[in-house]
Amino acid sequence: MAAAPPQGTPQPLYTGKAKSLFPHDDRHFRMVFRDDLTAFDAVKKATMKGKGYYNCQIAATLLPMVERAGVPTHFVRLLSDTEHLVKKVKIVKLEVLCRNLAAGSIVKNYGFVEGTEFKKPIVMFDLKEDKFHDPLLNEDIAEALGVATAAEFAKMREMTLKVNAVLRGYLEPRGLLLPDFKLEFGYDLEGGLILADEISADTCRFWDAKTRRSIDKDVFRFDKGDVLATYKEAYERITGKTAG
Ligand code: 5GP
Repeated sequence: MAAAPPQGTPQPLYTGKAKSLFPHDDRHFRMVFRDDLTAFDAVKKATMKGKGYYNCQIAATLLPMVERAGVPTHFVRLLSDTEHLVKKVKIVKLEVLCRNLAAGSIVKNYGFVEGTEFKKPIVMFDLKEDKFHDPLLNEDIAEALGVATAAEFAKMREMTLKVNAVLRGYLEPRGLLLPDFKLEFGYDLEGGLILADEISADTCRFWDAKTRRSIDKDVFRFDKGDVLATYKEAYERITGKTAG
């Protein structure tokens, strides 16, 4: 049996693979970025001191940028080096993937040659359910499952394409390509659909534009090199700050 936590230790409302969510006030949660790394439905796991900080700061740089461009997000402000104050949302149980260059599962499942540039971004929806390995959804399945309606699909697609344009516009002058990324959405207390979760080196592929070297979680997934140095590089190139 697990030991009881010390008295007075706040309990997370939710513990994900790399973040924990704590109560804050009536309208907000506290989202803590941990140093944990997982891949392949958590079959591969590690903990690296500093990783949570780098991702937290990357997301705190990119989410406000997206918000300023007109896509509402749950991010309010940083509470500490590794914590975001976020709006309470009810998460929509799907993941929206956006792809500019062929990488990862679209190469494995559909036979695209890695690195192929798509003429227009590809938007895909997966059910957020590890036990089924996040299967691909279409509108009819999503509607039958009660996960999202066709109108909600259309809205998430439009918001995702806007996020893609904002991120590419920021990253490309910094010598970074954005092959793909994953977004999650939720409904806020007013019933508005907003972007939730994070935009970070865990949820995006970032490639160096010259060498096409991965500067993201693929380095952990596929043992491509020094994982912590990779998150640090993503942090430095995206925030423009030097890590201490
Ligand atoms: P793929 O479908 O190739 O595995 O992933 C496409 C993109 O979405 C990648 O940038 C990947 O990091 C992100 N992604 C897809 N599913 C997940 C997931 O369950 N968790 C995280 N953190 N990222 C995901």
